[in-house]
Amino acid sequence: MKFTIIAKEDDHSQNIAGKIRTYLEDFELAWNEEEPDIVISVGGDGTFLNAFQKYTHRLDQTAFVGVHTGHLGFYADWRPFEVEKLVIAIAKKPLQVVEYPLLRLFIYYNDEREPETYLALNEATVKTVEGTFVMDVEIKGELFERFRGDGLCVSTPSGSTAYNKALGGAIIHPSLPSIQIAEMASINNRVFRTIGSPLVLPSHHTLTLKPVTQFDFQVSIDYISTLQKNVKAIEFRVAEEKVRFARFKPFPFWSRVRQSFIAD
Ligand code: NAD
Repeated sequence: MKFTIIAKEDDHSQNIAGKIRTYLEDFELAWNEEEPDIVISVGGDGTFLNAFQKYTHRLDQTAFVGVHTGHLGFYADWRPFEVEKLVIAIAKKPLQVVEYPLLRLFIYYNDEREPETYLALNEATVKTVEGTFVMDVEIKGELFERFRGDGLCVSTPSGSTAYNKALGGAIIHPSLPSIQIAEMASINNRVFRTIGSPLVLPSHHTLTLKPVTQFDFQVSIDYISTLQKNVKAIEFRVAEEKVRFARFKPFPFWSRVRQSFIAD
């Protein structure tokens, strides 16, 4: 089995990463940054998102596991003192994976540029660069509403506990292949109206946003922020690809939600 490690830059994370590398090489596992079977992230959820984005081109051949060096992460769910246990599991146990759905988005432009496409593990957000965000929201090609406000957040089930949750979205179990749309400060009065509730779309539905008054947007994909100019439309759907988590111990989703937000 080939492995690589993506670690946060602080000394603690770098030390843990060094330990994991030495232990795994002692077990004769091969370090391989180009074609790893397993990617170990050491840091926080941000580090995990970074590791994911680095290997989106080979998701079907790569499994991910996260060690947290700060507070319990959603993706980074192994603690530093469990590193020996984790290494033995990686080296000796058959690799078992759990697959979670992802978000695929396409950005189309008004000029002759080819569309851009991205995969998100948590979410994509769209906001204006300045002024009110105005978008026609289409679901399955039919106009649903004209949204005015600060922006929209489209999340995966595993991303539903991140930015989406702060926007009042629901927590969705990752066994449901779906995407969730949450509003950011919509304008609602006698003239302008939006649904006001988060929407959950199944995998055979597509969400399309079409600009009305301005065509430049700030589009974020997980931790990556991009400026998109002259946008014609942005399309979102459940991706065909899935992310594969290496699972060496049971840690059910609802336990993770409880431990992250309610109590240990
Ligand atoms: P970061 O690593 O500091 O992450 C921000 C926080 O989000 C951390 O506490 C992290 O543990 C938590 N987090 C990330 N993914 C999560 C998930 N799936 N479930 C529960 N908590 C999760 O910052 P970053 O590297 O820039 O991470 C980017 C993420 O930050 C984005 O994907 C977005 O979800 C999140 N974010 C949240 C808010 C908000 O809650 N208001 C605003 C902006 C971004």
